[in-house]
Amino acid sequence: MPQIITEENLRKLIDLLVKEAKLVVGPKQSGTTVLYQPLATGSDLNLETLPRRSSKELFFPLCEDILTFRKEGGVVKVSDVDRSRFPETVLIGAPPCDAGSPSILDAVFSWDYHDQFYLERRRKSTIIGIACTKGDDACFCTAVGLAPDAQQGSDLFLTPIKGGGFACSAVTEKGESLAAAHAGLFSAAPAAEPVEFPQQDAEKLDLVKIKRWLERHFEDPLWETVSDICIGCGACAFICPACHCFDINDEGSADNGARRKHWDACGFSKFTNHASGHNPREVQNKRYRNRIMHKFKYYDDKFGKTLCTGCGRCIRACPVGIDIAEILGTINGKED
Ligand code: SF4
Ligand code: SF4
Repeated sequence: MPQIITEENLRKLIDLLVKEAKLVVGPKQSGTTVLYQPLATGSDLNLETLPRRSSKELFFPLCEDILTFRKEGGVVKVSDVDRSRFPETVLIGAPPCDAGSPSILDAVFSWDYHDQFYLERRRKSTIIGIACTKGDDACFCTAVGLAPDAQQGSDLFLTPIKGGGFACSAVTEKGESLAAAHAGLFSAAPAAEPVEFPQQDAEKLDLVKIKRWLERHFEDPLWETVSDICIGCGACAFICPACHCFDINDEGSADNGARRKHWDACGFSKFTNHASGHNPREVQNKRYRNRIMHKFKYYDDKFGKTLCTGCGRCIRACPVGIDIAEILGTINGKED
C-alpha cells in the first residue's frame, strides 16, 4: 500500500536527519531568492518557489580544493583532501529537473577518469525528489523526456496530494532504508489523489531528429541567427543542472597554496584558447553551437543521454533573451 507523509512530518523528518548529523540540503529562502542551502530545521524548507540555481553544486561545487601544497625546509609537501570527511547528505525537495541531473552526470564523472570528489559525494547522498507543481512558461522538461512527476534520479519520491501532504514512493534501496528508519512519520494511504500538474506549452521535441540535423549542420546560418547576440557571460552554464565543465588552477604562492577545480563554461571566449593564441572557436556563435552540440549530440553519442533536463533556468537567466527551447523547436521543425 502507498505511504503518505504530512507536511508537518516532512519537516520533522528534516529535524531528525539534522540531529543524526546529516547534511540536509533543500530549497531555502536566501534574501530575495530561493537557493539550495543547508537546512538547520524543517521550517527552513521552502517548497513554494523553484530554486534559482540547480542542485548540481551539492555534488560538484563551484570551486573546491583537490590538493594543497606547502614548502617546508626547501621541500614541497603535497596533501590530499580527506574525502572521507564529506558528510552523509540528504538532498530534499528537488524537482525532477534537478533530481534527475546526477543520474545524467554520473556517466561523465565515472568515464575514463573516475572523479572521486563527485563520486564520493554521490555515494554519500540520498535524493528525496518532489513532483513539480511550480513550473512556469520557461519549463520544457516534458519535451526532453522528463515530466513534473518523473522519478528518475530520486531515491525517495514525494507527490503532493489533494488535501495536503505527500504520497511517498521508495525508488531505490537508499530511499527505502531512509523511509524505514523513520517509519513512524509515514502512514498508509489507501486512496491518495495527486494534485494537478501545470501543463507545459513546449511542443514535444523529436530528439533523434534534432540530433540527426545537428550531425549534418555543423556549419549552418542558423548558428549566427540565433546566437550572434550571446555575450558569453556563462550564466546559462553556471545555472544549469547538467553543464559540468571545469578548469584546474594552482592558486596561492610558490610556498603555500592549493590546486583547485573551478566551474568553466564553453560560452567564455577563452574556453578553447590555445597557448599559441589560436582559438578554434573564435566567435561567439561557434561557442553557442558547441553548447547545443554537446547537450543534444556529443553527450548522446558518448553516453546515450541528453544533457538537458528542460529546467528552463538558462532561458530565465540569459541577459539577452536566448531561448534554448525555441532554438530546439526551430531545429525540430526543419527538414533534414
Ligand atoms: S540547458 Fe537550460 S533548460 Fe537544459 S538543463 Fe541546462 S539550464 Fe536547464
Ligand atoms: S546566458 Fe545567454 S548571453 Fe550568457 S552565455 Fe548563455 S546564451 Fe550567452
